Amino acid sequence: MGTRIFTVANQKGGVGKTTTAVNIAAAMATAGLRVLVIDMDPQGNASTALSIPHTSGTAGVYDVLIDGVPMAEVVQDCPQISNLSCVPATIDLAGAEIELVPLVARENRLRRALTTYLESRPPNQEVDLVIIDCPPSLGLLTVNSFVAAREVLIPIQCEYYALEGLSQLLKNVELIQQHLNADLRVSTILLTMHDARTRLSSDVAAQVREYFGDKVLRAAIPRSVRISEAPSHGETVITYDPSSSGALSYTEAAAQMRQQEVAP
Ligand code: ATP
Ligand code: MG
Repeated sequence: MGTRIFTVANQKGGVGKTTTAVNIAAAMATAGLRVLVIDMDPQGNASTALSIPHTSGTAGVYDVLIDGVPMAEVVQDCPQISNLSCVPATIDLAGAEIELVPLVARENRLRRALTTYLESRPPNQEVDLVIIDCPPSLGLLTVNSFVAAREVLIPIQCEYYALEGLSQLLKNVELIQQHLNADLRVSTILLTMHDARTRLSSDVAAQVREYFGDKVLRAAIPRSVRISEAPSHGETVITYDPSSSGALSYTEAAAQMRQQEVAP
């Protein structure tokens, strides 16, 4: 089976993109898949959650995008979870949004580097899953992520404004499909910060399920203090509190993703 490549995107801030990227990655690695997380957000939150050093000057995705450093030289192993590695983001990446503009093939730089990396893996050490964590914007970093991926995973927070801006995101995915990456498709929607006790949360969930149908994972992620505490310990909730509702629901969501039919 080939490598599945997801980008986790939503230009709305704070909807659970990073939390979803690292916890799905951790759940998949725990289930035995070889997983690579690429942190494309200058905030470096995914790197933090995976305990990957990313102080300014650390080699990371900036060097790959701007200086053409091979990805293999900047990948780091996650200390807590075997089979899980990460390309870290440092604050230097904030400048990349501008520095990419004059570069040749500026939209394709992540894709090229990733393709080379995946093809260079020795037999029996192929990467099964790549998860790219996007910043909350639709700039060149996100465009690079869309061009490098085949599947888009959209986390949707079960809040009143959840659906606002979603049509813009879908329109952008369509533009990428038309001009830069015909293989890209929105394959997976995950409801996050769901509170089954509130009418609002259930209403948003129902609307999302009606619109996106079976792309919406049956597992929804509950609002959980354990999920929000884990990153401050440099952990995902999967290792921080494996029996918590948050860990169980991310594990269930990951299991459902493994059962999805994958386009050839
Ligand atoms: P940004 O747009 O800034 O990159 P994001 O979409 O990546 O944000 P996260 O950083 O994953 O969002 O989450 C935003 C905040 O909400 C974080 O403090 C995180 O710990 C918290 N959070 C995410 N999911 C949950 C949850 N299910 N329950 C409780 N808190 C959560
Ligand atoms: Mg984030």
